[in-house]
Amino acid sequence: MVERKSTEFLDRFWRKVDVRSEAECWCWNGARFAAGYGQMFVTGRTRYAHRLSFEIANGSIPPGMVVRHTCDNPCCVNPRHLLVGTNYDNIVDKMVRNRSGCSEQAKRKLSAALSGRPAKNRKEVEFRGVRYESLSAASSASGVSIPTVRKWMSRGEGRIL
Ligand SMILES: [Zn+2]
Repeated sequence: MVERKSTEFLDRFWRKVDVRSEAECWCWNGARFAAGYGQMFVTGRTRYAHRLSFEIANGSIPPGMVVRHTCDNPCCVNPRHLLVGTNYDNIVDKMVRNRSGCSEQAKRKLSAALSGRPAKNRKEVEFRGVRYESLSAASSASGVSIPTVRKWMSRGEGRIL
């Protein structure tokens, strides 16, 4: 904490930042995490550069909160582009911005993450006149394997809804 506020720390921090005008992104020129976020070694720990920047500008981050980029640019440490929020906000943000060429599958995963439900195998099926929430539910209720259910469905004994 002490080192974080010291002149020496601030020198070390800002030397690695491409500081530009207020509206522009200030990209971190030091080491980065795989996801593109800047990293800096501080008092024995590797820290996120954008979180450090937020702390320099605003003080400490409340426990459990994440620092988000309003510019969606991971390397950016411009304090005006940083907001504190929950991880939930972060997921919603990514969804709204349709980041990194979000595929249909990724969108389903995100919405499942938000609703707290697993994304896979959510197709309802009708099998021998009964409606099941999934193929595996139809399989266990009927006492036959999933491939067998599929085979019987292909012969007209059921369908995916
Ligand atoms: Zn930015």
